[in-house]
Amino acid sequence: MTVSFPSLSGATSAARATREAAGDTSNQLNLRFDEPHFLSSGHGGKARRHAPVPGGAPAFQRVFTRLGLTGRPPEFVIEFRPYAGLAHSIRRREGTIFAALSDLLQDAPVNIIEAIAGILLARLYRRRTPRKFLRDYREYAHESHVRQRLMTMRRGRGKRIAHHPQGKFYDLAEIFEKLNRQYFESGISLPRLGWSAKRWRSMLGCYDAALDQIVISKDLDRKKVPRFVVEYIVYHEMLHIKHPQRSVNCRLESHSRKFREEEKLFKEYGKAARFLKGLS
Ligand SMILES: [Zn+2]
Repeated sequence: MTVSFPSLSGATSAARATREAAGDTSNQLNLRFDEPHFLSSGHGGKARRHAPVPGGAPAFQRVFTRLGLTGRPPEFVIEFRPYAGLAHSIRRREGTIFAALSDLLQDAPVNIIEAIAGILLARLYRRRTPRKFLRDYREYAHESHVRQRLMTMRRGRGKRIAHHPQGKFYDLAEIFEKLNRQYFESGISLPRLGWSAKRWRSMLGCYDAALDQIVISKDLDRKKVPRFVVEYIVYHEMLHIKHPQRSVNCRLESHSRKFREEEKLFKEYGKAARFLKGLS
């Protein structure tokens, strides 16, 4: 797999022309590795509110000025989206500019948010992008932890798995049923359930809210892994269903204090945690 770095390509000219004809100046900018497209999390559901980028609007405002753009400054609405890749988009509608940034940037420093602001705004206003922005962004995107997240995310997100809960040793459907009765008063509806196609190294389970599916690492479907360990991982993912978040995708998920407390209600919590420690 070649890692081609950012194709700074905008929307296709046909699509752009259509939108411009409709009075909607929007410009989809994909800064990406080799993901052909991104998913929007809405997925046929009703429009969902996305998490705002902290400090996003002021950063765009600053860059707007720095680019020497004149006229009445627009209002900025800058949000994270769970795109299936490092992709960002920008559009203008009347006095407001909407930008959606990949939530892979959730802990990006402010100069990276500014760099993206610079790249997107320059594109929208057909200006030259200052080199510094491109350089900063490239460097950041190449940093290994970002790359790693991207890989992790691709494994977990955007792929709808078949509902095949029966593994070689453990049946996830049976485990789900039992846990649902034992801990949730059978209040959690059955998501898509299955084992990962490959062994995961750094992740044991994943709940993808957009796809409503729980995937458990195939690595755990082994004789030497006790049942309570598999149960613990499934229990953890079920808690993610019970405590929904705006954007869940395995790695970037957060665990509230309430989540953590409830996690400890799992009967073999200590034992399972000790086993997993030995496994890594
Ligand atoms: Zn979790």
